[in-house]
Amino acid sequence: MQKTIKQSTFVIDCPYCKAKVAALEHGRGSKSGVIEEIGEPFAEIIVVGECPNCETMLAGESHQVGFEGYDSHEDRWTDFVRIYPKPPKVFSSYRIPRVVKSSITEAERSLQANANIAACVMLGRAMEAVCRDILQKKSTSKTKSSSSKKIKPIMLGQGIKKMKEKGIIDERLYNWSQQLHAFRNLAAHPEDITISRADAEDLQIFVYAIIEYIYDLTDRYEEFKERLERKSK
Ligand SMILES: [Zn+2]
Repeated sequence: MQKTIKQSTFVIDCPYCKAKVAALEHGRGSKSGVIEEIGEPFAEIIVVGECPNCETMLAGESHQVGFEGYDSHEDRWTDFVRIYPKPPKVFSSYRIPRVVKSSITEAERSLQANANIAACVMLGRAMEAVCRDILQKKSTSKTKSSSSKKIKPIMLGQGIKKMKEKGIIDERLYNWSQQLHAFRNLAAHPEDITISRADAEDLQIFVYAIIEYIYDLTDRYEEFKERLERKSK
């Protein structure tokens, strides 16, 4: 006689039930290693299953955000984000810092839970991290600034302006960033406000566009140019 084995489950947002459900797991795959270009560890897992209520097939993805003995006391993972059906935006560039990725994941989770103010705070955090990565990483390697090793981290408003000045973002992306900045400021202070789901989702689309422009499309163009150069030789 066979004993019934308790089926394992994973918590994920079901887009049809519009709720977090304990999906019945059917299988999983995982991968881990070190990103050679930047020497940082990574680990990710993809799990497949079905909604216990509506029986829709669901797939979720989680990635490791804390590595024991590297940057954390213990291994830490994100909650599962739904990748099927209705997948979130995926970026291809390996240059996107982990803090940016985790902030946009958190924003997506907040939106899925109708926490629009929290989503705006996280989108602002993602954009601020982009500003720091682009402006402060590059300037430290180029200029031989002598004495002070500790650079004051750049804030969102100032960062956006500098990105525009340096031609990293154009006028339109600059305007979108300013809207994000305004909403982030509203969201970050304990005022009695509401932010609609529609506004938060638009800001999310703007942030995705900016990240795609700065990282993914730049990578893509560099690869394109290299290919042309190789051909011409
Ligand atoms: Zn469902």
